[in-house]
Amino acid sequence: AVTLVWFRDDLRISDNPALAAAADSGDDVVACYVLDEDTEGIRPLGGASKWWLHHSLAALSASLTDLGIPLVLRRGAAADVVPRVVAESSAHAVAWNRRYGLAERTTDAALKASLADQGVEATSYQANLMYEPWEVTSGTGGAYKVFTPFWRACLASRTPRKPLPAPDSLHGPQLPSDDLDALGLLPSPDWAQGLRDTWTPGEAGAHARLDDFLDRARGYKDNRNLPGVKGTSMLSPHLRFGEISPFEVWHAAQDSRDPSTAEDIRVFGSELGWREFSWQLLYFHPELATVNYRPEFNAFTWETSTRSELEAWQRGQTGYPLIDAGMRQMWEIGWMHNRVRMATASFLIKNLMIDWRVGEKWFWDCLVDADAASNAASWQWVAGSGADASPYFRIFNPVLQSKKFDPDGKYLVRFVPELADADNVHEPWKGAAPGYPEPVVDLKESRERALSAYKALSES
Ligand code: FAD
Repeated sequence: AVTLVWFRDDLRISDNPALAAAADSGDDVVACYVLDEDTEGIRPLGGASKWWLHHSLAALSASLTDLGIPLVLRRGAAADVVPRVVAESSAHAVAWNRRYGLAERTTDAALKASLADQGVEATSYQANLMYEPWEVTSGTGGAYKVFTPFWRACLASRTPRKPLPAPDSLHGPQLPSDDLDALGLLPSPDWAQGLRDTWTPGEAGAHARLDDFLDRARGYKDNRNLPGVKGTSMLSPHLRFGEISPFEVWHAAQDSRDPSTAEDIRVFGSELGWREFSWQLLYFHPELATVNYRPEFNAFTWETSTRSELEAWQRGQTGYPLIDAGMRQMWEIGWMHNRVRMATASFLIKNLMIDWRVGEKWFWDCLVDADAASNAASWQWVAGSGADASPYFRIFNPVLQSKKFDPDGKYLVRFVPELADADNVHEPWKGAAPGYPEPVVDLKESRERALSAYKALSES
């Protein structure tokens, strides 16, 4: 008998409940990944994420080969492709790990039903969130509106389960597979050198990042705010693609705790909690990437005629060092430090008064960790239109932020090298700064413009 394991956002062999169940059944196992760019509502991956997926699939394929089976790659709408693979392999059962976007859930539910009609049982498992979105809900049964009570209630409900080991070995038939290169995930022309220099996609790379982080977790609580310091885990793309599970990260962090790092590990755990919170929001508000969570923001008037300002932001040419360093960091390595994500998003939304959705899309295309829930929830958080959001009138001042969090300008100069010669790295316009642009907007004026637009909204 054959069980088909359909891999999605869970590109790992350890702590993979669907794979573990198939292995434990003693069945032959067929492992399959479907690149689905055809199902309506499933958001196509951005460029940086595609690069990541290519390498992650290569790594998963190698791990499965070591265990004894190939990874079968296919492309097309899952509703067509999965039943085809079931038929080709004569599978009597299908196993997958749950996903939580609306189009994904609808697809999976329809597949489950149509497979059942053919006598094939599909079983889904919890793998990618420690608390499923419907598990710990607010008093009215929906999403929590505020993070702290959400996370407190999650932790009080139960301890996240322990991770499962990887199977020792697998057996199963060969099936025709598309060639990984033919999926067309790699960029052409090749702009991925900075990504290659920074990341090792795949499960081994994820565990190496985790180990490296746990060795230097002491100080995380403060260091996580300093973009020039390697203070955070950089696990986000690995978590996004499920190369490591949140259960694995959670328990490894708890196990590494000693009295001197207890507070750092608690804060790190609550960041994982923000990921869970974002997914609960997306589950109950599937349009989180396009629709204001707080409808009063629908009346907000965004500037639309600022093409050159938008381009300056996208290219890291705004004349504000922290904004430019962040945008160039993302362009170069597909990842940006959290503090700088907040500052660059605030700058776009408030100083340039460009609709947060424009920024959300740009990040979606540029980030290797682009995540349907965390990206949308975070953009709405900065915009003030989201749940538990930073109030709209909180406008990050990029100069004060870099003076406070990157005082020696290390981060600024690393990503904006022309600032090495500037007289004043935080405020280059105050002296000579050869090759560096003038500010695109005046901070004070643009701040006042934003505040009066908000005032008009709140009075309307
Ligand atoms: P660490 O500090 O080591 O945190 C550990 C893990 O916790 C992260 O890997 C991540 O999975 C999770 N996490 C941490 N902070 C947050 C947060 N605020 N919200 C949700 N999860 C969090 N994160 C994404 O994973 N994908 C995105 O597309 C994304 N877009 C963002 C857009 C904006 C405008 C902002 C302000 C934040 C965004 N974040 C996003 C959240 C956060 O910036 C990243 O998760 C974090 O910088 C990843 O770095 P790290 O793995 O070193 O984090």
